[in-house]
Amino acid sequence: MAVLKRLMLARASAVVARGLCSGRELGSGSGCGPKQLPLQRSPEGRNRQWVFLGCPGVGKGTYSSRLSGLVGVPHISTGDLVRDELAASGPLASQLAEIVNHGKLVPDEIIIDLLSKRLEAGEAKGETGFILDGFPRTVRQAEILEGVTDIDLVVNLKLREEALLAKCLGRRICSQCGGNYNIASIDIKGENGQPGMYMSPLLPPPHCASKLITRSDDTEEVVKERLRIYNELTKPVEDFYRQRGKLLEFDLPGGIPESWPKLLQALNLGDNANKKSAAA
Ligand code: ADP
Repeated sequence: MAVLKRLMLARASAVVARGLCSGRELGSGSGCGPKQLPLQRSPEGRNRQWVFLGCPGVGKGTYSSRLSGLVGVPHISTGDLVRDELAASGPLASQLAEIVNHGKLVPDEIIIDLLSKRLEAGEAKGETGFILDGFPRTVRQAEILEGVTDIDLVVNLKLREEALLAKCLGRRICSQCGGNYNIASIDIKGENGQPGMYMSPLLPPPHCASKLITRSDDTEEVVKERLRIYNELTKPVEDFYRQRGKLLEFDLPGGIPESWPKLLQALNLGDNANKKSAAA
């Protein structure tokens, strides 16, 4: 995968840029940053290269992994890569735990390193294309990505702020199969001209019910910090892609049953999805 080679270069470039250009934005036209990268573009006819943006709790993982199954490209979540690293208790684990459990962002070099390794493993299996979830998360990361490949589409998932905290606090994961569930029942009353919103819980099947765990960073204090960091560092990434005409804004109208068909429609995938489920 050419993307991989270029990401590897970006990884090195990010480290070099940090040393050589501290205080300067990558891509500012100075002698540092993506200028050092070969700016080849991916060939026509390749698989989709999509990015999902959205606040913690919005459902990026849920929708992007569903779409990945539908359109046949891998779902790559940098949050999952970080959690895998934490679970493996490798040399980075204690440094990562300290960062993640305070709701902060992992340094670019580490994230790009994890992402490069994931792409490399995917390449070995013949994967092409991707749906990235959780990357890029800063303008600097977006510039690095833009410097190495073409992103076709960036989906910005949006959900009413009142629901985000409740969704993070209600999140449960099956420690055995990794299934994602949510025990929160969200019922926002309509007021000031805004409609109400109801999101029913997504309860686990009986065989998962006794194995549920919560993410260590899904505490009220840490979720609030993650939301603050999102607004400060990731919101500008929305503008980055908006200016490039790549941003698709999608307001989630409610839970999965209401939102999924509308998202497919917004992505012009409605027919494909119907055909696929009819064929199944
Ligand atoms: P969220 O639910 O807050 O969107 P994720 O599951 O995507 O969280 O990521 C969990 C944590 O992993 C983040 O809070 C952050 O510490 C780290 N992380 C994930 N992706 C990135 C990234 N692109 N850059 C820096 N840190 C990241």
